[in-house]
Amino acid sequence: MPIADFEPVIGLEVHAQLLTQTKIFCGCSTSFGQEPNTQVCPVCLGLPGSLPSLNRTAVEFAVRAGKALGCRIQDRSVFSRKNYFYPDLPKGYQISQFELPICLGGEVTVPLDGGGTKSFALTRIHLEEDAGKNVHGEGGSEVDLNRAGTPLIEIVGEPVLRSADEASEYLKALRLVLVYLGVNDGNLEEGSFRCDANVSVRKRGADKLGTRVELKNINSFRFIRQAIDFEIARQVELLESGGRVVQETRLFDNEKGVTRSMRSKEEANDYRYFPEPDLPPLVLTREFIDSVKLPAWLPLTAAAELEKNGVPAADARTISADQALVTLAFDVLAEIRKADPAADAKWTANALLGELARALNDKAIDLAHPKFTAAQVAEVSALQAKGTISSTAARTVLAELFRTGASPAQIVADKGLAQVSDTGALEAVVDAILAKNPSQIESYKAGKKNLLAFFVGQAMKELKGKGNPAELNKLLKAKLGE
Ligand code: ADP
Ligand code: MG
Ligand code: ZN
Repeated sequence: MPIADFEPVIGLEVHAQLLTQTKIFCGCSTSFGQEPNTQVCPVCLGLPGSLPSLNRTAVEFAVRAGKALGCRIQDRSVFSRKNYFYPDLPKGYQISQFELPICLGGEVTVPLDGGGTKSFALTRIHLEEDAGKNVHGEGGSEVDLNRAGTPLIEIVGEPVLRSADEASEYLKALRLVLVYLGVNDGNLEEGSFRCDANVSVRKRGADKLGTRVELKNINSFRFIRQAIDFEIARQVELLESGGRVVQETRLFDNEKGVTRSMRSKEEANDYRYFPEPDLPPLVLTREFIDSVKLPAWLPLTAAAELEKNGVPAADARTISADQALVTLAFDVLAEIRKADPAADAKWTANALLGELARALNDKAIDLAHPKFTAAQVAEVSALQAKGTISSTAARTVLAELFRTGASPAQIVADKGLAQVSDTGALEAVVDAILAKNPSQIESYKAGKKNLLAFFVGQAMKELKGKGNPAELNKLLKAKLGE
């Protein structure tokens, strides 16, 4: 049976570290990259007699994520102990949420290439603590517990994804929302945003789900597609040859691009979950839930608004992938509209995706600490709209503005841009002048070289004196065959 006769089913579990200053149940710092085992205390080490107390900001961040993803925020949730043995977990259990998580339902919405969006249902979001880290070295393995107790939200998706591409788009969209919310830094490589992919296949038309395999160790968007595609092919081959899929956890080997069996999959009852006796149920008041605010824009609303303002869909999407760009785009547009209330966002989008993107690429600027203001960018637009500078000159001014923060008018003066130096514009004028004066061209070609001044003069007149004379001379000479 060919692969097309099987339908892949994928559900993602995402662990996102919350960007709190301190850990979820103690006051230890969450800062990354410190000396091993220096950010620890009796609570996060799990020493007997220590007592956890819940970090309010972690709860707020979980609620913020839940609100942005359209979840039902639960006014009562319960922490549970998930018992297992592993060197990076000295307590012997992880404090998590099991039966009663903080958020239920919700969805991740992804933009589609052809326009529009598609939403994928979430099961839940729960709060939990991260474990430490095993560091494998030559002389053996060591444990660093600095990460133990870092707050996490686990975002569990329903098994509704149908391809590796869908899974990767879902993951990108989810990551972007969490980054926008300021609750997570979205770093797959460093593991502050981690994804386990559950993959099964079933015959098309079947309504029962196939046996799933859980894939771990996927730390890039490319790897998620690779791992899932490999796993789909492996399972289909297995079923075709009369075998069956075993429920297990498999590790993705990103060097070989294959998945490898790690351990048989544990069931929930293997963990002997029970309510955490040292923490009361988490009760959220209506006031608290209402006080958790979302940013002005989320990726999709920002992209939609830009599109509504005349920005092509693909460009709107590119801008919306960067929250700083979105803020800047709307700020610039607002400034431009002070002068021209009917202005659309196209010029702004081009400025940000052109010169600004180039400057960012060259690492010439830092958008977190820009030297320029939105009002200055709008000034460049006005200078161009007034015809003081050409569009080419505007790009030059923008590039300089982004780099230095100097006033646009000053840049125009310093660089002598207040004239038409744009070759395209000059050429159009030159062509028109030449077309109007065929007899002078003949005389020129016959030897009356001083007619060049006549042509330059005509073009200058046409350009209201703003043409760049050197450029005009050069252009005319070329056109006249010199
Ligand atoms: P856990 O992995 O912790 O045991 P669950 O059993 O609730 O938790 O499943 C977690 C994830 O597995 C969810 O994202 C869900 O969508 C996905 N999943 C469940 N069954 C299947 C299946 N048959 N095929 C693919 N994914 C599945
Ligand atoms: Mg799982
Ligand atoms: Zn601690």
